[in-house]
Amino acid sequence: MDGSNVPDAAPVLILLGPPGAGKGTQARKLEEGFGLVQLSTGDLLRAAVAAGTEAGKQAKAVMESGALVSDEIVLAILKDRLAEPDCAKGVILDGFPRTTVQAEALDELLKASGQRINAAISLDVDDAEMVTRIAGRFTCGGCGEGYHDTFKAPVVAETCDKCGSTEMVRRADDNAETVASRLEAYHAQTAPLIDYYDGKGALVRVDAMGDIGAIASDLGAIVSRVSA
Ligand SMILES: [Zn+2]
Repeated sequence: MDGSNVPDAAPVLILLGPPGAGKGTQARKLEEGFGLVQLSTGDLLRAAVAAGTEAGKQAKAVMESGALVSDEIVLAILKDRLAEPDCAKGVILDGFPRTTVQAEALDELLKASGQRINAAISLDVDDAEMVTRIAGRFTCGGCGEGYHDTFKAPVVAETCDKCGSTEMVRRADDNAETVASRLEAYHAQTAPLIDYYDGKGALVRVDAMGDIGAIASDLGAIVSRVSA
């Protein structure tokens, strides 16, 4: 710290949401609308390894041994990345932290650069409704048109309105049981983090069951508020 005029620290957001909540779509909209950069753990690791940074070299050695990359290495890579100029308007963390131990370490790291988690945004879903939405999906094997048992059934059962094909494709992992257990796993893994950020006053809940535009506008309002 040399006492020079440092601009306001860039906001750091965390986006939490179960599979199917539209996290990827919303993160892209925030990138386009606000110049934020989405940092996903997998991308960060790959980029650091490719760039051959010090932390990247360590990560590479660990990954080649088949082990999981330690929190220390991930944090070192994240620290390098946050210092890059494209992160000046703020970042959205995706996939990190996953545990409260990681969240605490991240708080320490951010504190060193005068930053903090400005908002941990939870995209809240109605589990039963999510099961209906996801488990009802299928597509035409002929032309790729998307259908849904409840919301967009073909006029003639199991026959594509567009191309007449009767070859309908359902993804094996889109059945109700699998979707329900994915949601359960998400809640079990995320609950401690939700509590952690709630305790710090950083948790913001957004209803993620509405249409994409309405959710985007809720998120935009949050970003504007924490960036002000
Ligand atoms: Zn078709």
